[in-house]
Amino acid sequence: MIEIERFGDGVTCIKTASPLEGQAIMWVYAYQVGEVVFDAGCWNAVEELRAYSKKHRVKRVYVTHNHEDHYGGSAAFLPEAKVFAGPVTLASMCNPYPLPEFFQFVWGLPEPVLEGQKLTTPSIEVDDFSFEVVDLSGHCEEMVGFWEPNRRWFFSADAVPLPSRKQMAMPEENIPKMIRRMQEIQEREIEVLFDGHRGPILKPHDHIETRIQFLSDLKNQVQQLVAEGKTIQEIKALLAFPEPWYLPNTEGRFAVDHLIRSLSED
Ligand SMILES: [Zn+2]
Repeated sequence: MIEIERFGDGVTCIKTASPLEGQAIMWVYAYQVGEVVFDAGCWNAVEELRAYSKKHRVKRVYVTHNHEDHYGGSAAFLPEAKVFAGPVTLASMCNPYPLPEFFQFVWGLPEPVLEGQKLTTPSIEVDDFSFEVVDLSGHCEEMVGFWEPNRRWFFSADAVPLPSRKQMAMPEENIPKMIRRMQEIQEREIEVLFDGHRGPILKPHDHIETRIQFLSDLKNQVQQLVAEGKTIQEIKALLAFPEPWYLPNTEGRFAVDHLIRSLSED
C-alpha cells in the first residue's frame, strides 16, 4: 500500500507498507524533491510505486542503504529513472539477501535490480537545492544521508533509532558508531529531520538527544559489567529488556544479544 503526503513547499512523502486488515504494518518513507527521490520504498508496494513514478516524473533515485524496506522498491522507478547507491547497497540490489518469512511478509523479497549505478558525487543538485551526501555508516556497513544546508533539512534514513529506548539490534549494527553519527547529526542544528520510518520531525534536537543519551548510558553500563567479568548472557539477564512478540519470527535478525555485544566491543 502507498500513501502520499506533501510536506511544506518542496518535499513529498512517499509512504509504503504491507497492509494487515487494512492498516499499514509499518510505514517506510521515501521522499521526493523535484525529480529526485531519496530511498525507494518496499517491494510489497512495487506496483503502486511504479504508478507513482510514472505520474510524478521521477528521474533519479538515491538509495541510502541495503535494507529491504529502503531499496526494495528500486525496480519501480526503472527504466525512466536512474537509480544510484553505494557499492554495498548495489550488490544487495543485484543479489537480494535471503529473508526470513516474517520480513517477506512485512516488506517483501525484492527482485534483483541490475541497472543500479554507483553514487560517486559528494553532492546532489536538484532545482535550487544542493544536498551534501553524508556518511551514516553504523546502522549498517554502508548508509548515506542527505543534508540541505540552506533549508537545514537532513534526510537521515535509519540513523536515528525509532524507539527512544533501543533495546535490540541487528548483527550488522555498530551501536557505538551509531551514537557518534547521531552526535555529528546534532552539530548541524537541523530544522527538519526526514526520518526513514517516523516521517518529517520538526526541530528534532530533543528527539535525537534522548536517543544519544539512552544508548550512551547503556554503553557505559554494559562496559562496566564487561569489566566486572560478566558474559553477554549474564548482562542480558541483568538488563531484562522486554522482548516483543515477533522477536522469534525474525530468526535472529533482531536480538538483544546483538545490541549488548556491539556496545561491549567499542
Ligand atoms: Zn535499515
